Amino acid sequence: MPMFIDTSEPGSCIFCRINAGELPAAKVYEDHFVTAFMDIGQLNPGHVLVAPKHHWENIFDIPPAEAQAVMLVAQRVAHAVKAAFDCPGLMLFQANGREGEQTVMHFHMHVVPRHAGDGVGLIWPRKEPGQQLLEHYAGQVRQQLEFNEELF
Ligand code: 5GP
Ligand code: ZN
Repeated sequence: MPMFIDTSEPGSCIFCRINAGELPAAKVYEDHFVTAFMDIGQLNPGHVLVAPKHHWENIFDIPPAEAQAVMLVAQRVAHAVKAAFDCPGLMLFQANGREGEQTVMHFHMHVVPRHAGDGVGLIWPRKEPGQQLLEHYAGQVRQQLEFNEELF
């Protein structure tokens, strides 16, 4: 991941400027809601970013309809990237907040082609807390899902 963090105001962040045509980008797709373009820092050849045209900061801000639009384009781009770069694997990745490794604070989805031994990795400090605690965690999430049902 790059060392800089873009916290620019809505309208002046890197991806807003790409959407406005003020910064160059190698675009692969564009519609009313969504743009897809090559990530400047290619993890593997064919690494694409899919972003809404509107500046929503993260998964918590983006309206569900626009999140759906981004996901549909990400799936379509994934098919295209797999065909174009012959990758046996492919990773969708979406970061939220500094602690979640987000560096450009304009919602986006990474479409990353993967190959054996490509060196791409995610530190994954796995724990197995046991069924009782899993049920407890599940209860916490279920409770919040009941509260936010009307939002979706
Ligand atoms: P994040 O860390 O927020 O998930 O990902 C931000 C991504 O934006 C990084 O992978 C980075 O390489 C990419 N990026 C940063 N600046 C630019 C730019 O000016 N143009 C393009 N095409 N990608 C950029
Ligand atoms: Zn923006």
